[in-house]
Amino acid sequence: MVISMKLGATREQVEHVCKRIEDFGYKVHSIRGEERVVIAAVGSGDVTHCVESLQAAPGVESAVRISAPYKLVSKQYQAEKSRIRVDSATIGGDDFVVIAGPCSVESEKQILTTAHAVAKAGAKMLRGGAFKPRTSPYDFQGLELEGLKLLRRAREETGLSIITEIMSDKDVELVAEYADMLQVGARNMQNFALLKSLGKAGRPVMLKRGLSATIKELLMSAEYVVAHGNPHVVLCERGIRTFETATRNTFDIGAVPVLNELTHLPVILDPAHATGKSALIPPLARASVAVGADGMMVEVHPCPEEAFSDGAQSLTIEQFNTMMEDILPYIKLWKDVRAAAALARA
Ligand code: PEP
Ligand code: MN
Repeated sequence: MVISMKLGATREQVEHVCKRIEDFGYKVHSIRGEERVVIAAVGSGDVTHCVESLQAAPGVESAVRISAPYKLVSKQYQAEKSRIRVDSATIGGDDFVVIAGPCSVESEKQILTTAHAVAKAGAKMLRGGAFKPRTSPYDFQGLELEGLKLLRRAREETGLSIITEIMSDKDVELVAEYADMLQVGARNMQNFALLKSLGKAGRPVMLKRGLSATIKELLMSAEYVVAHGNPHVVLCERGIRTFETATRNTFDIGAVPVLNELTHLPVILDPAHATGKSALIPPLARASVAVGADGMMVEVHPCPEEAFSDGAQSLTIEQFNTMMEDILPYIKLWKDVRAAAALARA
């Protein structure tokens, strides 16, 4: 349920409504917007009875049952897009945030060379896996702690914020110590123990859409993190599994406008994992800006041929530079459109 209080509702009225909600067995999350107080009631109980009762309570403008099972991440709960601060970068704000780096952290030279190059080309965040979710147990599994330390070094040298994957709830404290943002990979989108533990991680989370997950399931997973105490979540569309075999996955770019209608969480796109082919990234990068995403994640490697993982979808440094120049006019347009929309709302 989402309860919108009337403009000028008193504190006593808000407290009364919160108490009623709790009496019905729900948990209260309230936000105080610039104009009015909005309350979300989360949990299970007699929804119909509760809604009718609240509609009759003093100071209540509206009480609606949300048919979708996600609440805290919904647009009804918060109409404005969330701005997620990740150290020096903000996702969901006035910038189209480019996250770049290798699939895996492989060596000091590899990560530092990449970090300096992508920072120079305008990336705001550095990616690189230290814990790698590989289909085969015989494939490179990541440098783990050593990889985290190398990412820290890259951060110190370049000022880039660091995002890296977390695979287990047991590693939250460790990875959060080194990373500015924690990435939940597609394979772990429904690792509910992990999602719950991220509620208390103290770091923003980027949640990637599962290989065969619906948009509703993605939002339900985000709801887990938010409901457990961490509202700083960014969603990432990285391709889904379909009957098509020409690309590694099928890039569901339509997920962006759909998500922008359903949720206030920022959305970024990952054309690298979506297609598996570096040649397809530049055109899809342009499309990612144009479709209204809040940013993009791409893989970059100084020598893709020698990459320990995902070389075929990794851009060389030169290709990354060209792509960044190529998307500049699109980003300018993106900024103009956002500024015009903000003016129209004001
Ligand atoms: C990654 O970002 O390197 C990765 C493993 O992505 P995904 O979880 O989307 O496959
Ligand atoms: Mn990868």
